[in-house]
Amino acid sequence: MTSISSSTSGWEQHAACAGTPIELWYGPDERPESGHEAYWRRRHAKNICARCPVRTECLADELIQSRADQHGIRGGMTPREREQLLATWRRDGLIPADQPPRDPVLVRTLIA
Ligand code: SF4
Repeated sequence: MTSISSSTSGWEQHAACAGTPIELWYGPDERPESGHEAYWRRRHAKNICARCPVRTECLADELIQSRADQHGIRGGMTPREREQLLATWRRDGLIPADQPPRDPVLVRTLIA
């Protein structure tokens, strides 16, 4: 079974998701997922994120990615939830209106 890999450097080495099945974060790769199954999978993943010591760093690194690169549960949020957070920041003038924020330090400050 494929698993979330644990990096040997940076915040990733403290990730609570290290060693968990990758399907938990991105859904099954080889079959459709029912709404019920997706709900419980996402809930389980978010529970792991809620106790992760590097959630802020993880979420910040995801939020600076382009919309096309937004996949799966990261930082305790779905891609749609991350987009909604970015939209709120754009509306409030905290980040540029036409592109993802590029500075992870700024984004970590906004999350905190
Ligand atoms: S916040 Fe969630 S997805 Fe990010 S490193 Fe922690 S457990 Fe993994």
